[in-house]
Amino acid sequence: MEAQKLRLQDKVRERPLLGDGAMGTQLMIAGLEQGNCGEAWNLTHPERVLAIQRRYAEAGSDCIITNTFGGSRIMLNRHGHAEDVAAVNRAGVEIAREAFGGREGWVLGDIGPFGGLMEPYGDFSEDQVRRAFAEQAEALVAAGADALIIETQTSLEELQLAIEAGRNAGAPCVIGSMAYDVTLDGSTFRTMMGIDPERAAAFMGEHGADIVALNCGTGMDMERARQAVRRYKEATGLPVMAQPNAGQPKLVAMKVVYDETPEQMVCGVVPLLEAGVDIVGACCGSTPEHIRAFRSAMDHYLAGRANRQELPR
Ligand SMILES: [Zn+2]
Repeated sequence: MEAQKLRLQDKVRERPLLGDGAMGTQLMIAGLEQGNCGEAWNLTHPERVLAIQRRYAEAGSDCIITNTFGGSRIMLNRHGHAEDVAAVNRAGVEIAREAFGGREGWVLGDIGPFGGLMEPYGDFSEDQVRRAFAEQAEALVAAGADALIIETQTSLEELQLAIEAGRNAGAPCVIGSMAYDVTLDGSTFRTMMGIDPERAAAFMGEHGADIVALNCGTGMDMERARQAVRRYKEATGLPVMAQPNAGQPKLVAMKVVYDETPEQMVCGVVPLLEAGVDIVGACCGSTPEHIRAFRSAMDHYLAGRANRQELPR
């Protein structure tokens, strides 16, 4: 039997962990058409999802995020898959687990935004959104997810509903991950709804998140991610996770392209570790090659740190 595995928020007290890279852009490369339902592939093309996640596991990821970003009833309903919520989320966890091939790894059940606005600004009642998050969180936890990651969040109201859903479902760990945009004058960054890292960190601490994170966003390169990690670390004692995009999206031949190479992006890994990041991964446009470069930079840094600690004083 597998030895008792530490909860993610406890494991990161031992050493920083490596996350994975993009799923959405990898699904496109594997043949998913823009606007189609990538989460349904957990049921219709599980081997393709598994192949992507296996490459992340082989590149050295300690954590793999399930292919369930749009796996809530509200999101799946847009593709006519509302009846598949439980099956899509269960399969998402099983595929990510299988990708580790029996070695120790943490499966992070992905919960993305529900994709609309709540009343009075939009059409969705708070109760509808709460029920959708609860249903997804329960399916992910029942399937054995080691943590839930509530990601690409911009509003505290929606974040709170999803964190509560995770807590109520009995998730061993709940990660809240905000998407920041660099302001037009370049002086700082905040979410589309005007939330800054200090406010997000304090809010997540009050509402029961175990790890505070950032992912995606606009203009949030590795250096901006480092700044966000610093600001989180000053605002909270909770562990911090960062998953920046592989550069800025560019439109090339009517396709969205992210062009920061592994060599470019990996330069930001040690600064992130020195800023105290506990989990490093990457978001849109990143690939297994990015994650492999991250693994090697992290291992080198951690070995050096261990040696420095052993030196006589
Ligand atoms: Zn992204």
